[in-house]
Order: sequence, then structure tokens, then C-alpha cells
Amino acid sequence: MNNDNSNAPRLTTTGGAPIADNQNTLTAGPRGPALLQDYQLLEKLAHQNRERIPERVVHAKGWGAYGSLQVTGDISKYTLAQCLQPGAKTDLLLRFSTVAGERGAADAERDVRGFAVKFYTPEGNWDLVGNNTPVFFIRDPYKFPDFIHTQKRHPRTNLRSPTAMWDFWSLSPESLHQITILMSDRGLPVSPMHMNGYGSHTFSLYNAAGERTWVKFHFKTMQGHRHFTNAESAEVIGGSRESYQEALYGSIERGQFPGWKMYVQLMPEADVEKVPYNPFDLTKVWPHSDYPLVEVGVLELNRNPENYFAEIEQAAFSPSNVVPGIGFSPDKMLQARIFAYADAHRYRLGTHYEALPVNAPRCPVHHYHKDGSMNFFGSKTGSSDAYYEPNSMGGAVQDPHVAEPPLSVRGDVARHDHRTGNDDYSQPRALFRLFDDGQRSRLFSNIAASMVGVPQSIIERQLAHFDEVDPAYGEGVRAALNAQKPRT
Ligand code: NDP
Repeated sequence: MNNDNSNAPRLTTTGGAPIADNQNTLTAGPRGPALLQDYQLLEKLAHQNRERIPERVVHAKGWGAYGSLQVTGDISKYTLAQCLQPGAKTDLLLRFSTVAGERGAADAERDVRGFAVKFYTPEGNWDLVGNNTPVFFIRDPYKFPDFIHTQKRHPRTNLRSPTAMWDFWSLSPESLHQITILMSDRGLPVSPMHMNGYGSHTFSLYNAAGERTWVKFHFKTMQGHRHFTNAESAEVIGGSRESYQEALYGSIERGQFPGWKMYVQLMPEADVEKVPYNPFDLTKVWPHSDYPLVEVGVLELNRNPENYFAEIEQAAFSPSNVVPGIGFSPDKMLQARIFAYADAHRYRLGTHYEALPVNAPRCPVHHYHKDGSMNFFGSKTGSSDAYYEPNSMGGAVQDPHVAEPPLSVRGDVARHDHRTGNDDYSQPRALFRLFDDGQRSRLFSNIAASMVGVPQSIIERQLAHFDEVDPAYGEGVRAALNAQKPRT
């Protein structure tokens, strides 16, 4: 039967030729067999076989939208970044995600959430690839692949393993801070709109005079914090596994545009030697009393993608993308991510992933990278005779004006024990002491629920850490564990 749509565009092959019949296989007689020369049948089946690309190893399940950052404050004395100047408005893409679950995982699961922003600035893309938590489980990138293995499926059972998680965490006390956030109310937001975002790492800002300031980025939800209890999320997941996608997409379609206030904490370069903690340690925050939040502007999401796969699944964020006025820091985790994220995209999307429309900078791009799989853009050097550098053919040249101020570093090249001199207990203690009785009781029961089936020796090792944070923490978890023991 023909579609009754005379104004519809003409169906074509991928080669552009019109197609006469998209319903009936070419056969020898009405009962078949099919002919090999029915190229469109072969093409349809071959395309279908290639519809999937590798999902992200972490942060596979995500939800995203476009929007803008409007700068309302004035941090111009700290940075020359054009997108952070007073009054600047910058288009952006924001992708939220869970960390551990696969692409088909339910949205409303207890997990850290990714909060990855790509700012399309006039001087290139700035990607701030953070989480909804200001800290992370580990501070040394050597531990990252092992940590993620504990969050993924056990190779034999093919099930998530609470034993692996608590074994690793109890042997890695630097994880206490993030565990306490994950198991608290904020570990299970009701939607991507009801949580904060954090750049998490320490970055740097620098101004035209070459002065560097260390910086942490914060995005505070303007929708308010809202969370599910474990029981509520079980009910939500029973009804829909896509509750975040529904909430974010629906809100933007209805014209209810979610917003976040953007702040920075600013630490003078010389303070690094004065603070009692390592300011480049990803398991630590900078207390607000020492480094208060400075308002920068408002981030708003206001447009849904037209095509989820092209614009969200193929979105590629990397902490390596910074722009003049914004730099890195000595944070080891950040430095490992500078390699690992771009490498993941090269593997998952291909060499030229940054030329895909969603990832392409919205400013002129000039480089001497050549050829490669799926190069559809030809020469980007600025002159067709300039395919090497330096040249006298009018090809693109470096700009020394954008050089970052030099950073002095000192110390012996060695494998320094990342535990030495690090206090893993004070900051989780400060957080625990912010919780009221209700928050504490939910923290205890969430932890106890996540320990079902974990060997007692591992539980005891973890309880000793909770005791050291605060005796009431260990006691509370013990009581919650006892309360859930099966009655005889
Ligand atoms: P402050 O009291 O000045 O700040 C507390 C911070 O904790 C606020 O940003 C607040 O976020 C957040 N917060 C409040 N309640 C909770 C909760 N139930 N779960 C998670 N976060 C919460 O204290 P400090 O700066 O000295 O920090 C104390 C502790 O607060 C830290 O050890 C850290 O665990 C946590 N924290 C600190 C942050 C920082 O950058 N200093 C950022 C986030 C958390 P909001 O204003 O959105 O409610």
C-alpha cells in the first residue's frame, strides 16, 4: 500500500538514486528466493548491523540538552577567557549521566551523576566534565580502572558485586568522602534538574598579566534539591526506567527551562603552600569559609536535541578542551583524564570525532592533522599548499599571545605514596555533621542495604573507617545492619 503523502520527499538510496519499492523484496516468482542483486535489501540489512557503536565504558546512560551560560558577575581580573567576561553569553551542550549502569540501565538508580558541559566559546570548545559531587572516590589515577571494575559486573556471575565494591572501598579510605555523599540523600536525585554540578577538579584561571589563580567550578540547581529514597526509586523504576529522560525532555518541551547558578571558588596561587590539605586532591573540597563562592552567571537549558544518537550519544566531552584564560592544575586525576577521555572518543567515535557537528567548535579551526578514516573536511591548514609546518605558503601559525603563564614545580620524581600526609576523615566528618537525624538515619540504612551479602571481615574493615569519621557514623551503620538481619 502506498503512503498517502504526495508532498513527502522522494526516498533514495544512500547514493541518492530514487527507490521504486521499499516494501517488497526482489524475487524470482512470488514465493522467492530473493535475488542478490536487490542491493537495497542488502544495504538495509548491512546498515542495521552497524547501528550500534561501543557504549561508553563509564557514563554510558545519559540525557542531554542545549542551552547557554549568561555571565552576570565579574571575574575578569582573574581570567581572560572570553566566555567568562561580564555580559558574555555562550551556547553550550550539557550531558548528564549515571556512571556504572549500561546504556539500558534504569535512570533512577543510586549512583554518582555525570555533569558534562561543552561551552562553544569564540576561542574553541571548553569542556567542563564534572559530576554532581564536588569530590571523587580516589585521588590517584592508577586506581581508576580497578575502581571501575568494582562498579561493573563480576566476570563469573555477570552481576554487580557489593563485595567487590566494599572490598575496594574499605581498602581505599580516601573514598569515604564520596561514599558518604553517594549513600546520603544526594546520591539519588529525582531528576537531572534537581542536583548540583561541580567541575570537581582544581583548574586554573589566568589573566592578561600572566597571573594564575586556582579555581573550582560549581553549578547550583535553581530547581532545588530533590531526592528519592531507595523505596521511592524502586517504585519509580517499576513504572519507568527512563524517568530522567522523561523529566528533562518533557520540561524543556513544555518551556520550563531548568537553570543552575554558576559560581567559582578562587585560591591565590601562593596559598597552595598554606592550606592544610592538598588543594589538588580530588577527594577534598575547599571549605567555603576559606574560599567563598563567587557568583559567575546563570546556566540555562532550553533546547532538546533533534536526534539523540547524533547529538548526545556522539557528544564527546574531554577535560583536555580548555581555552585561553583557563588552564589545568597538578591534580593527577585531571591529568590522567586529559589523556583518557580523548582516547575513549577516538576509539568509540573515530579519529575525527571533533569534526562531528555536535562536537565541532563554532569558531575557525586550523590544524595540520591529515587524512585518516572518515575525513570529510579536507585541509584545515588555511592554505592548500601548506600541508606541513612551518611553511611559507600562508598556512596557519601559532599565536604566542595565548601562552599560559609558566608554572614552577618542585619535588623529587618518584612514586609518592598518595596516602602519606592525607587526612581522609576530616572532610567526611564535616559533611556527616551537616546531616540532621533523618539524613543520618537514611545514610545508615542506605549503607546497610548496599552491604547485603558482603563478608563480615570486609564490613568490619569499613566500619572501622566510619568509626574514625565519627563514632556515631559507625554506630549508626552497625545498628542498621543489625536491624536488617533476618529474624529467626
Ligand atoms: P559549608 O557549610 O560552607 O558548605 C556545605 C556545602 O555542603 C554546601 O555547598 C551545601 O550545598 C552542601 N550540602 C549541604 N547539605 C548537604 C548534604 N546533605 N549532602 C551533601 N552536600 C550538602 O561547609 P564546607 O564548605 O566547610 O563543607 C563541609 C562539607 O560540605 C564538606 O566536607 C563537603 O563534604 C560538603 N560540601 C562542600 C562543598 C564545598 O565546595 N566546600 C560543596 C558541596 C558539599 P548547597 O548549598 O547546594 O545546599
